[in-house]
Amino acid sequence: MGLRYTPAVRRRGLGFFRIAKVFEVEYGHRLSKHPERCRFPHGHRLRLEIVLRGERLDANDMVCDYKALKLLVLDLVERLDHALAINADDPKREALATMTERLVPFEGTDPTSEALARWLFDAIAARLAKGRRVVSPGGTAYTIPEGVELERVRVWETATSWAEYVGGP
Ligand SMILES: [Zn+2]
Repeated sequence: MGLRYTPAVRRRGLGFFRIAKVFEVEYGHRLSKHPERCRFPHGHRLRLEIVLRGERLDANDMVCDYKALKLLVLDLVERLDHALAINADDPKREALATMTERLVPFEGTDPTSEALARWLFDAIAARLAKGRRVVSPGGTAYTIPEGVELERVRVWETATSWAEYVGGP
């Protein structure tokens, strides 16, 4: 006999589900306060993990369609692609702006992987607070169910180093 995954089972509250979507993007940054090489503009192949959490499954037996999560965050990832992230107060900002049209200034902080994880988390959380309907380029609408929360954003800067920002309870 197969598993009978009834609504009553869904409501038992014994645990929760997590799903994640992973993006990889080529990106550059400069850490203006760094004492060594990280103060020079350089690049990383970033791995971004966006993790959602939900206690219940939707009518399609999912926390949320992966496509909906992708549509929710894709333009944020695109903004980082082949961009150069800097501290908005970087004393070399003007010179750096002559090198690229794709500057991403971070207000009040160097663009560390911690700051990037927080930036992504805040941007995605603000979108979820505003509305949960996303539409694909082909016109198909998806809804991220109420109760599904953004749990964390993890930013892999190298194969051995990551930082994450985790939402509060
Ligand atoms: Zn770096």
